[in-house]
Amino acid sequence: MKRFDYLIVGAGFAGSVLAERLASQDNKKVLLIDKRNHIAGNAYDYFDKNGILIHKYGPHIFHTNSGEVFEHLSKFTEWRPYQHKVLAQVDGQLVPMPINLDTINKLYGLNLTALQVTDFLASMAEPREKILTSEDVVISKVGRELYEKFFRGYTRKQWGCDPSELDASVTARVPTRTNRDDRYFTDTYQAMPLYGYTRMFENMLGHPNIKVMLNTSFSEITDYVFYNELIFTGPIDEYFNYCFGKLPYRSLEFRFESHDTPVYQPAPVINYPNDNPYTRVTEFKYLTGQEHRKTVIVYEYPRSEGDPYYPVPKPENGLLYKKYQALASATKGVYFAGRLGTYKYYNMDQVVAQALTLYRKISQNYNGAVEVLSKKLHISPTPALMGNVLSSD
Ligand SMILES: Cc1cc2nc3c(=O)[nH]c(=O)nc-3n(C[C@H](O)[C@H](O)[C@H](O)COP(=O)(O)OP(=O)(O)OC[C@H]3O[C@@H](n4cnc5c(N)ncnc54)[C@H](O)[C@@H]3O)c2cc1C
Repeated sequence: MKRFDYLIVGAGFAGSVLAERLASQDNKKVLLIDKRNHIAGNAYDYFDKNGILIHKYGPHIFHTNSGEVFEHLSKFTEWRPYQHKVLAQVDGQLVPMPINLDTINKLYGLNLTALQVTDFLASMAEPREKILTSEDVVISKVGRELYEKFFRGYTRKQWGCDPSELDASVTARVPTRTNRDDRYFTDTYQAMPLYGYTRMFENMLGHPNIKVMLNTSFSEITDYVFYNELIFTGPIDEYFNYCFGKLPYRSLEFRFESHDTPVYQPAPVINYPNDNPYTRVTEFKYLTGQEHRKTVIVYEYPRSEGDPYYPVPKPENGLLYKKYQALASATKGVYFAGRLGTYKYYNMDQVVAQALTLYRKISQNYNGAVEVLSKKLHISPTPALMGNVLSSD
């Protein structure tokens, strides 16, 4: 049977970025498996029965401040510039989200300037001595009234608990603006892969050193393949058979709807913080720029059971993860990466950055070993030696 240098579990961003680097830069033989029937992990997109490009696991919008991450992915895709916009339905009106000057003026029937709105928000804010939770973050910035209108209900639906129980990091992601900037993100690079995420992943994984096996879970294959090292991007607690207990995740159910109209709603995403059991509705054609006489929208219903999507950022979960992390550090020859492998609420770009960092660490490890070996043997480390000395082909 063939022996691989690396078995990589999970063909999402973490696993695929690592597979490509190890295969193309270090000449490693990689077996990449995924239990799903497709590559690209949660970023997977495909054309539905009407030929409309949709995201199977909810809307994925690419944005980053990292030139390195953007340049890296640009090796595998061209881009379509895209600035994301979100409206929120509050008090029967659709207003810009994150809260900006227009949000306040529309909501309160005012005509404030940027300077005046700064004073307005300051008068609403309730400063708190310590910012520990998501509730503290918002109330200290914009006060209880706006917190109740925009954040409390949405967070309760999304996470199934009150913002006062969640780490400050959850709502700290959402800014408040005193100007009229209605972009959801302000990152330097904001763009969508021109032909979709799945095509980008296909380009990433086309290297002859990479073998991809779908519909294959780690547990069913581990006894039948030979590999030197393992990179695991599935849930870290699953890898260790939940020995310290289950790490909690939040899940989502997606309901897709096709409509016989080119445009369905006035913005790419509409948030429903207070009414309705769903949190938001997305219309994909805004994101992809596709022209079609029909359109597809998706509703997101938060769930406590189902695919693990969001690590729940609570202090006790952080402590539980640390136990698994300690076990992981003591497990030789196995690396953990990605949202599930490191139990981090990461965006796509952060996962890519993490994977590139891990790649450098792994690569340095064996290149360091090659150097030590070369010194012992009194030879210089040639590229062939660098590529092969630790591979068992
Ligand atoms: C609804 C939603 C919307 C999002 N929107 C955005 C966004 O707009 N912008 C953004 O930057 N990020 C967004 N994200 C985050 C983004 O999805 C993640 O950052 C990224 O996909 C993580 O990549 P990953 O490789 O770590 O994990 P995943 O994409 O989850 O890949 C892990 C893969 O491992 C496989 N796997 C797990 N266990 C096993 C096993 N035992 N055996 C075999 N295979 C296994 C899984 O099937 C999966 O395909 C969103 C996430 C969700 C859920």
